[in-house]
Amino acid sequence: MVLQHGHREEQGDDAVLPLWPRERSWPVRGALGITLRELLELSGGVRDGHELKFWTPGGSSTPILTAEHLDVPLDYEAVGEAGSMLGTKALQIFDDTTCVVRAVLRWTEFYKHESCGKCTPCREGTWWLVQTLARLERGDGTEADLDQLVDLCDNILGRSFCALGDGATSPITSSIQYFRDEYLAHLTNGGCPFDPEAATLFAAERVPA
Ligand code: SF4
Repeated sequence: MVLQHGHREEQGDDAVLPLWPRERSWPVRGALGITLRELLELSGGVRDGHELKFWTPGGSSTPILTAEHLDVPLDYEAVGEAGSMLGTKALQIFDDTTCVVRAVLRWTEFYKHESCGKCTPCREGTWWLVQTLARLERGDGTEADLDQLVDLCDNILGRSFCALGDGATSPITSSIQYFRDEYLAHLTNGGCPFDPEAATLFAAERVPA
């Protein structure tokens, strides 16, 4: 389904944003300018009993947004003004069962793995990002680790040869911006306060005994 709801005319594949609902085998697609609120209404929304927590408008290399951005028109200018990018337009939606620290750690592990090693900021920086995030996620870190993460990101962003290095920093800096308290909760809790199983699809589908 393609929604003709755009703020401006675009041609070809660039004109649509696909969102793959959890219970369908085909995507809902909206023209540039549609909002995430509208896309979620068309796709069935997040799981019953849960709320949107954070989302990426353009894949994990674009800064995350939150529920306060549900009505941002999904076009290049408006998403940029909201502090993110459309990027690949790979919308990823996370509800309130998801630990943002764990999600960002998984993404960062991917970037570390994919770093080709050509340039030092990305090769060394992504390794240190993973070490620091993993320490925080285990509850072994300190609040100073958050400052170190931001500092590491500052030294990778704009200093890497290709977009992978820059992309690795986006989920980290934006998640600290919006969810600093959740990072700190890992420290006071001595580890992740979330049940990782609760975020899985099979947890949602389990029939109560
Ligand atoms: S930024 Fe690109 S070129 Fe540099 S190490 Fe990372 S993947 Fe390789």
